[in-house]
Amino acid sequence: MNETKAYSAASATSPLASTTISRRETTERDVQIEILFCGICHSDLHTVRDEWSSVMATTYPCVPGHEIVGRVTGIGSAVTKFKPGDLVGVGCLVDSDHTCSQCSDGLEQFCHNATFTYNSPDKHLGGVTYGGYSESIVVDESFVLRVPTTLDLAGAAPLLCAGITTYSPMRHWGVTAGKKVGVVGIGGLGHMGVKFARAFGAHVVVFTTSPSKKDDAFRLGAHEVVISTNADKMEQHAGTFDFILDTIAAEHDLNAYINLLARDGNLTLVGAPEQPLPVAGFGLLFGRRSLSGSLIGGIAETQEMLDFCGEHGITADVEVIPIQRINEAYERMLRSDVKYRFSIDMSSLKAE
Ligand code: NAP
Ligand code: ZN
Repeated sequence: MNETKAYSAASATSPLASTTISRRETTERDVQIEILFCGICHSDLHTVRDEWSSVMATTYPCVPGHEIVGRVTGIGSAVTKFKPGDLVGVGCLVDSDHTCSQCSDGLEQFCHNATFTYNSPDKHLGGVTYGGYSESIVVDESFVLRVPTTLDLAGAAPLLCAGITTYSPMRHWGVTAGKKVGVVGIGGLGHMGVKFARAFGAHVVVFTTSPSKKDDAFRLGAHEVVISTNADKMEQHAGTFDFILDTIAAEHDLNAYINLLARDGNLTLVGAPEQPLPVAGFGLLFGRRSLSGSLIGGIAETQEMLDFCGEHGITADVEVIPIQRINEAYERMLRSDVKYRFSIDMSSLKAE
């Protein structure tokens, strides 16, 4: 086993702090990666604070981080896709059973035996998996992605979660030219959603609770921006949307967005608030509207998304921080005070 520096939380109420964790020796199909940047996802915060305890309780110590970009430093004897020096990414998944129907459909995120990058049973070492707030990671080559070398690395890291989580449902629900698309919440996920919807040719409307983000929303690609606390402005869009992507991380009124859908329109939730959200059935009945969810994306689609970003020059807008500012970054994320994703420069961990 290899010792590696990391940041972990010891309990739901502890700040993240410097620690040392073990990584397995590379087995024949493994890729060993030096982590260069790791994005900070709101899911990291939900997990560290055990806010999803009813669905997946957190095991401590917890080392979060699933927006990983790094360089290959070693490979197992049977690895064919990568070689030392390659620029690679790891997202929310590090393994699955490779055999079930979800896996054969390329939807590994729904495999009942999927291993998530952190807080998931670790098949190799026991305990739970540890994520990207660390110097290095060892991952089965089938869960390692190729990162286009033309992309800024700090901005590419968030593509591994915020990118695929917004790209996948838009592809699934047919976001294309001629469609009217809403993106609710301009945080890490939302700002990527705006970029993709625009790149797919849709008419893009941003819904935000933060008037200060209006100019940025236009710069990111929105055609229109609605301050969602203004009921009159919301009403002007009633019954008109083909698709709305809801990225809000906290309690809010879903019905206000269901009412904006056109006939057969779809509202997809990717945000994962701690508490259940009430839905008025009639809002769905009239207009045959639908409400659905979406979870990250499979490995093949994640590679497709990275390649798309390479071709179109798409990365996240990031504020790069040293790992030592992680706890402050969490508080700022809670206040919606980040434009629009924190990306940790992992070389800062060497100073610990
Ligand atoms: P984030 O950067 O904190 O962005 C969330 C945005 O939601 C905020 O910037 C804010 O946008 C809006 N918001 C926050 N609190 C609100 C409130 N009380 N009422 C209305 N709007 C509010 O978070 P993120 O990293 O994008 O993640 C968003 C959610 O998606 C989290 O719950 C996360 O766990 C989940 N997630 C799900 C998946 C998946 O696979 N489904 C993957 C990754 C993350 P405005 O300032 O514009 O209003
Ligand atoms: Zn995430």
